[in-house]
Amino acid sequence: MGRIEAGSLFGTDGVRGVANVELTVEMALNLGKVMGTLRKRVAVAMDARLSSPMLKNAVIAGVTSAGGDVIDLGIAPTPGLQYYVKAKPEVEGGIVVTASHNPKEYNGIKFIQDDGREFTREMDDESENIYKSKTFNRADWSSVGQVYSDEFRRLYLDEIRAKIDEVAIQKKDFRVVIDCGNGAGCETSPQLLKELGCDVISINCHFDGRFPVRNPEPVEDNVSMLMEVVRAKSANLGIAHDGDADRATFVNEKGEFVGEDIILALMAKYYVEKSGGGKFVTPVSSSRCVEDAVKEAGGEVVYTAVGSPVVAETMLKVNAVFGGEGNGGLIFPEHLHARDGAMCAAKILELMAVEGKPISELVKVVPKYYTLKTKVQCRDRIQLLKGLKEEFPDANLMDGARIDYEDGWVLIRPSGTEPIARIFAEGKTEDKAKELLDMGLNAVKKILS
Ligand code: MG
Repeated sequence: MGRIEAGSLFGTDGVRGVANVELTVEMALNLGKVMGTLRKRVAVAMDARLSSPMLKNAVIAGVTSAGGDVIDLGIAPTPGLQYYVKAKPEVEGGIVVTASHNPKEYNGIKFIQDDGREFTREMDDESENIYKSKTFNRADWSSVGQVYSDEFRRLYLDEIRAKIDEVAIQKKDFRVVIDCGNGAGCETSPQLLKELGCDVISINCHFDGRFPVRNPEPVEDNVSMLMEVVRAKSANLGIAHDGDADRATFVNEKGEFVGEDIILALMAKYYVEKSGGGKFVTPVSSSRCVEDAVKEAGGEVVYTAVGSPVVAETMLKVNAVFGGEGNGGLIFPEHLHARDGAMCAAKILELMAVEGKPISELVKVVPKYYTLKTKVQCRDRIQLLKGLKEEFPDANLMDGARIDYEDGWVLIRPSGTEPIARIFAEGKTEDKAKELLDMGLNAVKKILS
């Protein structure tokens, strides 16, 4: 795990690692003690991974030993827990045990603030100081924390329904196929779609931490079953979630995958138009098609480093009308300053209903670019960052290196959650994108050799 090896415990999305090897129960216990030292009442939830109950129980033991009370929500989508924490004034924070989109052997632990946002970099650093110096509270026998359980689902689904035009959706009798990838969204997202009046066909919608059918990341290569079922059942839309259902990706009514950046551009344009302008926040890794769509709608793009906590934080700072990442992680500020896959699915249905067009028609307003991504093993992120600075002194070095050209750009950055370097390239033609990707790949190989 990149961040743990690099000496920093918290990556862009909390602590991540292979369960029981890199992320152990001892670490989970101590991370729980950190949270119990910082906050007195904490909601805890987990995804459906095989190692999640083990780590969740260690986390709960840690929080309560430091004197914090725990509200155990069981299996919940990450945004389900985040909304619960935001909605309950007496709950001061949250912990989610999840590795999101990572492969099945991984797990992770993520801290949530009282407003439902993920911890900021500064809060992670404070937590890490307590963790490393072991300056935890230790409650005496009469003041150890207690464990309660509660139901988040009704609260969460009602909130989403209140923030969308459900009447418009209900009139349309959409047929949708939902693929939760056996992850944490299995019970909430199909239920939400049914309550919106959709004819719902669910696949991979039972909890199974072995992920028997597909990898938890809802990228095009992993959702071929969804594409087939959409075609076979003549559905209006296919929806896929990652392992903790804070991301959603889509398949159109023809059974074709819709690019994540295109969905982001479409939704950003919808929000900017509705607001009559305003700021839109996204990481430097997002496609130029998003910037084009936002500018055309009269909005302004604010770029950040990669990682949803910094996008959410910047959205609050600049009072953004919308924000999100080009991986299906969209942030709806009227709901939660965090990604939410179920909310995203409902908003796409709202857009289809309001505009009265199928999704394949809606996306035609988004300008076409060719995007290519690849990744390469990178065990030493410090060496890569230093090399990039030397190799590309004029690049945008906000996060890795983004090198812009008139007809395209390339971004090279070490992952915050895995020991790899990611290379993104985009061009107005496929050849240009390929040329830029090869250039980026060769630069990384040269730096790491
Ligand atoms: Mg996720």
